[in-house]
Amino acid sequence: MVTVLAGGTGGARLARGLLDVVGARELAVIANTGDDVEMYGVHVSPDPDLVAYTLADVIDDQGWGIQGDTFQVMDALERVDRPAWFRLGDRDLAMCLMRTELLHAGERLTLAHAEVCRALGLETEVIPMSDDPVRTQVKVRGDWLPFQEFMIVEGGKDGAPEIEDVQLIGMDEAEPSPEAIAAIERSEVVILGPSNPVISIGPILAVHGIQETVAECGVPVVAVSPFIRGRSIKGPTEDFCRWAGLPVGTDCVFEAYSDLIDGAVADEPAAGRAVHVTETLMDSPDARRRLAQETLEFAATLAS
Ligand code: GDP
Repeated sequence: MVTVLAGGTGGARLARGLLDVVGARELAVIANTGDDVEMYGVHVSPDPDLVAYTLADVIDDQGWGIQGDTFQVMDALERVDRPAWFRLGDRDLAMCLMRTELLHAGERLTLAHAEVCRALGLETEVIPMSDDPVRTQVKVRGDWLPFQEFMIVEGGKDGAPEIEDVQLIGMDEAEPSPEAIAAIERSEVVILGPSNPVISIGPILAVHGIQETVAECGVPVVAVSPFIRGRSIKGPTEDFCRWAGLPVGTDCVFEAYSDLIDGAVADEPAAGRAVHVTETLMDSPDARRRLAQETLEFAATLAS
């Protein structure tokens, strides 16, 4: 049994590789919900959905949404001058509607997302970090922006405005999803996926009890670095690391996760650290499967 902590693309790709190696029922993914947002009357969970779509092999090539989706609802909203800056495909929206209906009926987010996974034919558990709302906000030019607004409206993807601060609204009150704690406790290996350490993996570990459970689980804990040849290949990871005072490169995961990890997988070594050095770019099914296999083999050599 393997548990992976994941944000978006990087963590999702590694999880897809692990699915091939260990099988659907031996894998659980705990996903960041700090990027969740209420839009068009539905609850959107960008990271849990990205993971689920990647595991189900329906992720669109652009890196979010469902392959071959149409955007008729967004087009219709734009025609009546309703802001549609957050693009959701029609099938993607259907998944969000299903989740929202269950939430409105009083269901927990974990079980509502499990229904989305079931609808995609997944057998792997994709578990939101918490059933309680946590919302990442980023301060730019003196204003606090919800994460999606920072990314999409302010062009956070291009690293444009300087990040002045980050806050996780609701974190103090958030309880971990019981399924997340249970998954960690029955795992033989815990992997921190190659996602943004500050705003993807950081929020998962910040939920009361999650970091403690990982620290006390008594099994090897391994991080896979999100840096390829010293650079982030997607999104504003470098900007957030700079804001958090973290180095960019293999050292980053050792500083970000300090005592929590027993070793890391990266394409460059780090002085004095337990690093399995290998190609970490997952640009094909073979590449992600190989990285997943090597990560598990490396974990097996580590004392927890
Ligand atoms: P986002 O939410 O989609 O931006 O994605 P994540 O939270 O997963 O984090 C983005 C990080 O994933 C970036 O720093 C990328 O460098 C990293 N990443 C994306 N694809 C890969 C990959 O194939 N291999 C590795 N090692 N990292 C990757």
